[in-house]
Amino acid sequence: MKILSIVIPCYNEEKNVKPLYDEINLATKRLDTYKLEIIFVNDGSRDNTAGEIKKLADTDHRIVGLILSRNFGHQPASTAGIDYTTGDAVILIDADLQDPPSAIVNMVKKWETGFDVVYGVRNSRKGESFLKKLTAKIFYRLIHFASNTNIPVDTGDFRLISRRVVEALKQMPERSRFIRGMVSWTGFNQTSIYYDRNPRYAGETNYTYRKMFRFAIDAITSFSSAPLVMATWVGIFISFFSFMFIAKLLFQKLTNTAYVVSGWTSMIVVTLFLGGVQLFFLGVIGEYLARMFTEVKQRPIYLIQDIYGQNKQS
Ligand code: UDP
Ligand code: MG
Repeated sequence: MKILSIVIPCYNEEKNVKPLYDEINLATKRLDTYKLEIIFVNDGSRDNTAGEIKKLADTDHRIVGLILSRNFGHQPASTAGIDYTTGDAVILIDADLQDPPSAIVNMVKKWETGFDVVYGVRNSRKGESFLKKLTAKIFYRLIHFASNTNIPVDTGDFRLISRRVVEALKQMPERSRFIRGMVSWTGFNQTSIYYDRNPRYAGETNYTYRKMFRFAIDAITSFSSAPLVMATWVGIFISFFSFMFIAKLLFQKLTNTAYVVSGWTSMIVVTLFLGGVQLFFLGVIGEYLARMFTEVKQRPIYLIQDIYGQNKQS
C-alpha cells in the first residue's frame, strides 16, 4: 500500500488543529487505497498546540507530533516535517484551514498520472486585507522576475511533492529555506491545480508586515543574484553621466566660460544621490554577506525536543 504523508507546520494553532484534522479525515475518505501519515510540527507555540496534537496522536496511530525545541519559523518547521516523512508523496498544508484539505484529492489524482510536484495556485484569497493581497501579488511577481529558477506566481507552500523531490530537498543543506523556490529548482514534472484560499479558521496570522518583508528579502537573496548585478549596471550608468559632466566642466574651465559662484544645487544633488545609491548597495552586499554568515556557521535548521505518536520511527 502506498503511503501519503501530510505535513502541517503549526505555530499557536490550538483552535485549528482539531478542525483541520477533521477536514483532512473528510477529504481523504476517497483516498482509501492509501495509508495515511499525518505529521503535525509544533513550532514552539506559546499556546496549547502541543497538547492538542498529543491528544490526537494518542487516539489516532496515523498521527505523529514533532515538537520543536523553540520557534524556528514556518519554513524550518515545514522542513522538519518533510524530513520526517516516509510517504511516497508528501503534502504540505497550513494549519489554519486557509488551504482547503478538499484540494488534496485533486493533487493526488494529478500525482498518480505521473507528476512529481502538484502545486496549488490561489484563484482568490478571502478574508485577507487589501494590503496583504497587494504585497503578496507584488512579491510573487518580483521573485518570479528576479529569479533564474522558474517560480510560479501566486503559489504558496500548499503542494504535493513526490518522494524523489523530498530526497532532493534533503540534499539541499541551505539554512535560509525558501521551500517553494527550492521545489521549483528541483525540476522533474511540475503541474498546478487551482483553489480558493479561505479566511483563517481561528487565531491570527503569524506573518506581520515586518516578517513578510524579511521573508521577501530572504527569498530574493537566496534565489537571485540580480540585486548584485543591478549594482554593476547602476554603477555603469552613473559613471557614464559623471564622465559627461566632468567633460563639460573641464571644457568650461579651459574655455573660461565656467560660472564662478553657481553650482551649489548640483553639488548637493550629486552628493546626496551618490550617498544614497552607495548606502543602498552597501546594504545589498550586506544582505548577501549575512546570508553567507548564516550558511558558514552550519547550524542545524531545527531541533526536535519530543516526538508524539505510536507511529514514530525511533
Ligand atoms: N507557522 C509556523 N511557524 C511560524 C509561523 C507560522 O509553523 O513561526 C505556520 C502557521 O501555524 C501556519 C503556516 O505556518 O500553519 C502559515 O502561517 P500564517 O497562517 O500565519 O501565514 P499566512 O497564511 O497569513 O501567510
Ligand atoms: Mg494562514
